[in-house]
Amino acid sequence: MMKKGIYFLCVFLAIISCKNEDELKALSNSRQVAKDTLAISKDKIAIKTNEFAIVIHGGAGTILRENMSAEDEAAYKLKLEEAIRVGYNILKNGGSSLDAVEKTINIMEDSPLFNAGKGAVFTNAGANELDASIMDGKTLNAGASAGTRTVKNPINLAKAVMDNSPHVMLSGKGAETFAKEQGLEIVDTSYFYTESRMKSLERVKNYEKKKKADAKTAFYDATIKNSKFGTVGCAALDKNGNLAAGTSTGGMTNKKWGRIGDAPIIGAGTYANNNTCAVSSTGWGEFFIRAMVAHDISALMDYKGLTLKEAAQEVIQKKVPELGGDGGIIAVDKNGNMVMEFNTSGMYRATMNDKGELYIGIYND
Ligand code: ASP
Repeated sequence: MMKKGIYFLCVFLAIISCKNEDELKALSNSRQVAKDTLAISKDKIAIKTNEFAIVIHGGAGTILRENMSAEDEAAYKLKLEEAIRVGYNILKNGGSSLDAVEKTINIMEDSPLFNAGKGAVFTNAGANELDASIMDGKTLNAGASAGTRTVKNPINLAKAVMDNSPHVMLSGKGAETFAKEQGLEIVDTSYFYTESRMKSLERVKNYEKKKKADAKTAFYDATIKNSKFGTVGCAALDKNGNLAAGTSTGGMTNKKWGRIGDAPIIGAGTYANNNTCAVSSTGWGEFFIRAMVAHDISALMDYKGLTLKEAAQEVIQKKVPELGGDGGIIAVDKNGNMVMEFNTSGMYRATMNDKGELYIGIYND
């Protein structure tokens, strides 16, 4: 109210003192100045909603109540709660948002329910190739790994790349060598096998065979239309005002040719900046790369003065669907406002605020 009041007062004062064409031009300039002032004051008078906060996702996609058994629903809710409570306790005890993001994602990576770590989807060649990234909103440091097959927790590798290497992104065999040198847990490739993900691969491949004529349509129908993407992500604000975000995934079922999605790409799958927000994405990665989803949300806040909610809606409900993509994001801004925005029928998600209030959601309601 007060912000709007300042804006209208500026415009009103300009109108009553305006006499000729030059002054009309000046008026239009003064409107812009008033708008800019409003954007700045928005920032300045913003009140902290939460001293610290945490938000997670376990993937977006075609997640419908009628297709979900009561047991499955309960299992997802339980795991989401277990994961978010780990990060919440770190933040509550004064720990860093980076630590909260990493440890929260570890819980989901170790669960076969999600398409990350154990439970990752299969490539066309029947392998599991994992991607992850993490970003520190304070320093804008970032780390990422792509296409690894033996690192148990790819988010730990992303963090090690950020902390202990001169690079931002490592891939494949080299990334695995680095992980070993860092003393991270290495597992046999069979660790990532789950029957349900293998069945999904067979289903997608069968569909592809039938629809050979149009590879793009077949890929869409088999992989996207009926899929739960299942990537995991976390964004957090700590008591020191530092934001962090991280994302971990097995990518997309039946991916070929060393395909890499948005999850390990800073600015697409993950972004954090203490001046704006921390974001983790999930969805049809090709579109999230092209729309630079996570960074675009931050940029809309930074350059246009949008709120986190407005920025997330603009990108997820407009820009991504206009390109033809689908999915969602979770994010928290520097004042502890949390957002969970998606354009699919569901997204596994949860938030906890500084009062310890927990929200868990799955469907679009
Ligand atoms: N965004 C991921 C990818 O394209 C998939 C997902 O979110 O589940 O690799």
